[in-house]
Amino acid sequence: MTLLDAPINDPINQDLSEEVIFDLNEKFEKAPAGDIVAWAVERFHPQLCLTASMQDAVLIDVATKAEPAIEVVFIDTGYHFPETLQTLETVRHRYGLNLRILTVPPRDVPVWQTAPLTCCAADKVEQLERALMGKLAWMSGLRRQEAFSRRSARIVSRDKRGLIKVNPLASWTDLDVQGYIADHDVPVNPLLTRGYPSIGCWPCTRPVEPGQDARSGRWAGTEKTECGLHEEYQAKK
Ligand code: SF4
Repeated sequence: MTLLDAPINDPINQDLSEEVIFDLNEKFEKAPAGDIVAWAVERFHPQLCLTASMQDAVLIDVATKAEPAIEVVFIDTGYHFPETLQTLETVRHRYGLNLRILTVPPRDVPVWQTAPLTCCAADKVEQLERALMGKLAWMSGLRRQEAFSRRSARIVSRDKRGLIKVNPLASWTDLDVQGYIADHDVPVNPLLTRGYPSIGCWPCTRPVEPGQDARSGRWAGTEKTECGLHEEYQAKK
């Protein structure tokens, strides 16, 4: 049984009702990211992980200050830019990460060539399901300012599996991120300074012009805007 087959009202996290989650979001809206991570660690660690894309290590920097042993998950689709894999190694050594790499098994014909709109679900999301087995909650560095499709992202929510999803940087602006990177000497993916403000797999990521939506280079020329990793729980009406 996968997590998605499990009933949404599993006993896990049952005390975190929508009302409690609403109150937490009110409280955390102006809170430092470190406080949000500390709450998640206190409540869920070690059944908590952090998913990282290796675009930058801001959330890893914040999270490892709260809990050095926090599990960091990286999904290796087999299609990352060399710069992303180089950043992974830099970050791993810098923070001595408790790193879990989930690797997509190689295929004779890549799904992105035959069915690009389902490739993320077939590869990325399947590995995320593996990563979240046995977990109560997970964190990501998703931010509202990254894209129109993310403008309503909540700091704390329940994902489509019923797990608690925490986005400690949801309210951060691009300037907040740049300031934190400079102040804390945080490693970043070198592609960020080469026209790639949002970095995914190389077959689906293009550089963008200055001033364009940061995520417009992702799946450019298709309707797709998200890979499906960050879907929230939708109550049945
Ligand atoms: S970003 Fe592209 S190559 Fe990577 S999993 Fe998604 S569709 Fe496949």
